[in-house]
Amino acid sequence: MTEQGFATRAVHAGMDPDPGTGAVVPSIVQATTFVQDGVNVLRGGYEYGRAGNPTRAAFERQIAALEGAEHAVAFSTGMAAEDALFRVVLADGGRVVLGGDVYGGTYRLLHDLYGPLGVTVELVDLTDPVAVAAAFGSAARIAWLETPTNPLLQIVDIAAVAASARAAGATVIVDGTFSSPALQRPLELGADVVLHSATKYLGGHSDALGGVVVTSDADLAERVRFVQFAAGAILAPFESWLFSRGLKTLPLRMARHSANALALAEALARNPRVRAVHYPGLPGHPGHDVAARQMTGGFGGMLSIAVAGGGEAARRVAERVRLFALAESLGGVESLLCLPNEMTHASVRGTPLAIAPDVLRLSVGIEDPQDLIADLEQALGD
Ligand SMILES: *Cc1c(COP(=O)(O)O)cnc(C)c1O
Repeated sequence: MTEQGFATRAVHAGMDPDPGTGAVVPSIVQATTFVQDGVNVLRGGYEYGRAGNPTRAAFERQIAALEGAEHAVAFSTGMAAEDALFRVVLADGGRVVLGGDVYGGTYRLLHDLYGPLGVTVELVDLTDPVAVAAAFGSAARIAWLETPTNPLLQIVDIAAVAASARAAGATVIVDGTFSSPALQRPLELGADVVLHSATKYLGGHSDALGGVVVTSDADLAERVRFVQFAAGAILAPFESWLFSRGLKTLPLRMARHSANALALAEALARNPRVRAVHYPGLPGHPGHDVAARQMTGGFGGMLSIAVAGGGEAARRVAERVRLFALAESLGGVESLLCLPNEMTHASVRGTPLAIAPDVLRLSVGIEDPQDLIADLEQALGD
């Protein structure tokens, strides 16, 4: 399958027509258990829904093919996927190197739940080569990075960090949620594992929660699958089907998200009521060159701005938008906006991960760009 182009794989990988009926779209197998033709004589390898389900397996084949990987394991949420992965890689504790502004939930899971089990978390600015060299001077169990980061859209050089981290014995994990494999494929750049909150761009329609662990390491995949079987946080059949449906249009959606975000970033950069625009597609962004190298086909649909009038002015903009919806989450076809310090990142206020109160995060949808620009301009106006 990997010889075919990305868009072809998005439509066809794992999506074989139903052999019994010829249905072009594989049906949702909404069943908990599977009949056996003799004791332990299984028809398709399936016995019980927690252990395996054909709709889930189809989505796993599809996302693995898009990341250029051998294996994928799909979970009920992104956090459930992270937890299963950590149970494997951090089974006996160890040191975790975590990129500077990672998803707050990842920090919370590692610090609050794994900290008491002997895991130490070290926050490192992985955009800084000097800090990277110092961080991996001694043994580490995991290097966890996101790029672009949330919500400041900083860029980490995946290949460079992966090389340093591997030399220190670390498993290199990239949270690929913000870019999706349509724009960036970390395994090709030296990462061991890609993790997604499928809830965001993979599903793309803000209607399903899910997560996935993707890797070509067969032993790691088998152990993650065992944790899933033993602990139970599987992705349900209907959600699996929704994600398969979403993935088929992923390259189209990501191209449009990227084009809209760039148009909006350029317009906002000219607006005197905006103090700063953080978008890696702008030539002045400090990570622009690295992003242009490792993100193929676009810079993504996420951007953030600092509002010139400060925190109160930012809150006013958040409450005055009409087309953008004031909401957490990201990655759907509809545009969303949030005030991270009060919403997505409220739990990290007062920690090194805190976000300034004047920052607004935008998840740019696939609407007409002139409508999105007009909405923000009216919200920023007097
Ligand atoms: C949303 C998100 C997660 C967590 O995923 P859930 O599906 O909400 O559990 C992890 N990482 C990033 C970057 C996210 O945006």
